[in-house]
Amino acid sequence: MAQLQLSQLRKQFGATQVVHGIDLDIADGEFVVLVGPSGCGKSTLLRMIAGLESISGGELRVGGVRANELPPQKRNIAMVFQSYALYPHLSVFENIAFGPRSRGEAEADFRPRIEKAAGMLNLSHLLDRLPRALSGGQRQRVAMGRAVVREPALFLFDEPLSNLDAQLRVQMRAEIKTLHQRLRNTIVYVTHDQVEAMTMADRIVVMRAGYVEQVGRPLELYDSPVNRFVASFIGSPG
Ligand code: ADP
Ligand code: MG
Repeated sequence: MAQLQLSQLRKQFGATQVVHGIDLDIADGEFVVLVGPSGCGKSTLLRMIAGLESISGGELRVGGVRANELPPQKRNIAMVFQSYALYPHLSVFENIAFGPRSRGEAEADFRPRIEKAAGMLNLSHLLDRLPRALSGGQRQRVAMGRAVVREPALFLFDEPLSNLDAQLRVQMRAEIKTLHQRLRNTIVYVTHDQVEAMTMADRIVVMRAGYVEQVGRPLELYDSPVNRFVASFIGSPG
């Protein structure tokens, strides 16, 4: 069964429609990248999936269940943003522990999950540090750690690497791919970076002005773009 099903999903802000009837099925374990120019509706779509933005029309199903009205905490989803606000006065461990603690979980239960997540994210030696003593990439990994300990079925990323320098971006792409291979969860990843899309995605969804232009595997889009927009966006010669 598809993990995520979007049927004619729409979003209006006042009289302005920014997401126009999107149909998309995402399979369990799939890594899907949403790409498109700034302002085309990527973040809005992601926030609707997360439950942070109301749905104006159509249907969203998560794990086969209608989720249009489901509160964010009940969607088994974790989201990682571009601007990751860590608590400055809390250690890396406590930053990651914040979610489980505030849900009333016992430390004996979540400590092993944090240690496992820290191992995957190369944070094991940094658990006692404060955020100000971390590099940008390390901070981004702490933000991912907070998402990973929730062990969500679905991970949403909104341009998580856009604040990092080029070299670090390349390294973090590889780390996110490795994380996906280990966890085998479903990922929807938003970027406006074509290279990121081509190198990370199982499937790419190309958006323009609130519409989906084409969905396909990276090489399908590269070899057979449906129009000039997709071709130029993906960077294929045709
Ligand atoms: P992207 O993430 O692809 O850059 P967004 O989803 O952020 O695009 O925005 C899509 C469109 O919706 C833009 O035109 C943006 O100005 C508009 N928009 C986003 N959020 C709001 C809001 N809360 N109120 C009104 N318009 C919004
Ligand atoms: Mg955005």
